[in-house]
Amino acid sequence: MDLKRIGQFIDIPSTAVCLLERPEKEITLAINIRVNQEKHIQTTAYVCLYNTARGPAKGGIRFHPEVNLLETRKLAELMVWKTALVGIPFGGGKTGVMVDTLGFTRAEKTVLVKELVHLIRNELNCGDYIPAPDMGTDAHDMATIFGETHILECVTGKPPRVGGLPGREEATGRGVATATSLMAQQHRLDPAKTTVAVQGFGNVGSWTAYFLHSLGFKVTGISDITGACFLPQGIDTHKLKKDFCINGNNLASCIDCTKIKRDELLEQPVDILIPAAAGGIITKNNAHKIEAKYIVEAANNPVTPEAEEILNERGTIILPDILANAGGVIASYVEWRQARSGSLTPREETYQVIDSAITDSFKEVIAIAAEKKIPYRLAAEVKAVQEVVEAMKDRGWL
Ligand code: NAD
Repeated sequence: MDLKRIGQFIDIPSTAVCLLERPEKEITLAINIRVNQEKHIQTTAYVCLYNTARGPAKGGIRFHPEVNLLETRKLAELMVWKTALVGIPFGGGKTGVMVDTLGFTRAEKTVLVKELVHLIRNELNCGDYIPAPDMGTDAHDMATIFGETHILECVTGKPPRVGGLPGREEATGRGVATATSLMAQQHRLDPAKTTVAVQGFGNVGSWTAYFLHSLGFKVTGISDITGACFLPQGIDTHKLKKDFCINGNNLASCIDCTKIKRDELLEQPVDILIPAAAGGIITKNNAHKIEAKYIVEAANNPVTPEAEEILNERGTIILPDILANAGGVIASYVEWRQARSGSLTPREETYQVIDSAITDSFKEVIAIAAEKKIPYRLAAEVKAVQEVVEAMKDRGWL
């Protein structure tokens, strides 16, 4: 976060800058574990509790071979702004484990998750850090964390049968679709005439495409790691989501449409482009090839700062990740609240909380953007930093 730039719009005391420029707590852990007779894992895990002024550090556990300390820190910081912007009582954190678990059996992965719990037991037990799934981890892994700690609220994203929340699985995609619809209304786009391309068909991408179809948008392009499909008249993403599971997650075999190269999806002539895969995919090298007038950041950090400069000059409107993909963490809050109160939450209530938090935040962001004549991302950041600074004042940290 460029605090100097944000400081042009709000007062940030220098003591706050010091606190916000670095994480509160960062742990580097050596993992050394024999998973079974054949497999021995020696790797590194990074745990970052970036800021807890507004509540416990909330953020997912990522298992990926390219995880590193800087990326983990950046993602933890992003969670601080996301939770602040949408007004839920959490700070920001993240865990990254440098490991490729693609070929792992469920049992092998469970051994690794248990070892991680063993290493960060203090943070979990006292409620300082509340993990959730991220790339490479899933609801089963969160159930393992619950099983190891016996504390229902110490982890979110659990399966509904194990204290999880109906609607959590699709929550991020639901929020992305709601945010896209609000942006379309704001810019007077008629969903039926608005074309959308979604990059990524995992949890976030597939549910985003699903809900956009429900809202009447024309999803004309979809890609995943294996390739991309384009259908000018619009894809039935409800059917695609069903067929995708039946056909063993093979996107190309599910739709009768034009097959294009994977990265060509980003350059398709659509109104809205939704990157919902990895970070850093829109760079200074491909930004000028993007034809979409609107980008909705379903992934975290999909647009690099250099690319954003180019896109801003071209008049592309970007709905930032801290607003667009906050549906998941909003649902996590509902799950945490449910675990603490012992209540049960119907799926419709989860949707209602997501939609209303995203709508309120969207309105605040467009009001700040209009008043200060700044892009949506900067407006969202101004609001988020202000919330965290005020919380630090409330707590007597400044
Ligand atoms: P996932 O692993 O379920 O899905 C990732 C998808 O991206 C897969 O379909 C994969 O095939 C595809 N993909 C990977 N590289 C690609 C490429 N180069 N081109 C096209 N497709 C590619 O992950 P997810 O949970 O859906 O997360 C996606 C993004 O959203 C990540 O950036 C994550 O940090 C972010 N995010 C996730 C959540 C959540 O609740 N899952 C919440 C907020 C943000």
